[in-house]
Amino acid sequence: MKKHAIIPIFIPHRGCPNDCVFCNQKAITARQANVTPADVRRIIETYLPTLTGRGLETIETAFFGGSFTGIPMEEQSAFLAVAREYKRKGLIHKIHMSTRPDYINEAILDNLREYEADIIELGVQSFDPAVLEASNRGHSVEDVYRACDLIKDYGFELGIQLMIGLPGDSLESCLYSARETVRMAPSIARLYPTIVLNDTELCAMYRRGEYTPLTTDEAVDITKEMYRIIAAAGIRIIRVGLKSTDLINDSDSDQNQTVGHTYHPAFRQLVEGQIAREELEAQLLELLGSYEDENAADGTRRVSFFSNGNSFSNMIGNARRNKEYFVQKYPEIRIAFQRDDSLGDMVFIAKAD
Ligand code: SF4
Repeated sequence: MKKHAIIPIFIPHRGCPNDCVFCNQKAITARQANVTPADVRRIIETYLPTLTGRGLETIETAFFGGSFTGIPMEEQSAFLAVAREYKRKGLIHKIHMSTRPDYINEAILDNLREYEADIIELGVQSFDPAVLEASNRGHSVEDVYRACDLIKDYGFELGIQLMIGLPGDSLESCLYSARETVRMAPSIARLYPTIVLNDTELCAMYRRGEYTPLTTDEAVDITKEMYRIIAAAGIRIIRVGLKSTDLINDSDSDQNQTVGHTYHPAFRQLVEGQIAREELEAQLLELLGSYEDENAADGTRRVSFFSNGNSFSNMIGNARRNKEYFVQKYPEIRIAFQRDDSLGDMVFIAKAD
């Protein structure tokens, strides 16, 4: 059962002075109505009846949109006051927001503490200074370390968002970012492959031949290695890849149209499915290496793969690709895919029958 639920509230950063190459928020927010504290109340009231009584451990109100702490302090306070009211009534449990590393300082954190905020997610994107520069993030990697330390010193929960495949990025710099994320010890992380959206500087770079988007397969390969590093440190990875609804919040235009082939609606399952395949194949090869053919009297070796129910679809793979992979690559082995709910999430076991 899902233990956590988020009530997402999109607060556009109107007048954002930055020009991140991948961003189309400015074009979108220019056409959006202002969000008011009354809207925050309405959104919470709309979500709450759908969430209560479902045995959820935590319900969070989360202010997304990139740079919550970049908006004027009195506006932050007005939004937070509504969320705090629901938290004090016990109807929500945590207040959560995302922001940029250079919009964190003592005054901002004092205010967030005053309004009983809990989780601050930083859009770090990369720990590689060259990638931050090439993506025109407008802040340094020192800003990232300073913000992470300050957030933790204040006792807030830290979240880190990373992007994969930004200009100047490589497998090595992505792995470095994953390792630095572990060193910063956030409690949650998100991994977003870079998507080229229409009418962004990144799209112009792509059309000028200055930027090549990752293919879906390349993005999966890099993201799975980052996922392994971060998950092994016990950090909860709450999102891998954009949801389709992240791309269609501006239905009046083609602004959200993607260019290239990085986007996949089931990106997380591709990543987790690939991890499942590699872990099972390594165990399978070990089993085959030590296989005495006593259970192959009929010439068919039998092996069972196990996962719990939550991870079963990852074991089978998106569009059954893992199942087909094993059938085609190991036609001499009869493989059964079985459920074992005594296993943890993302634990995959191969056993000879
Ligand atoms: S991604 Fe960059 S440009 Fe876009 S809203 Fe956030 S800070 Fe501003």
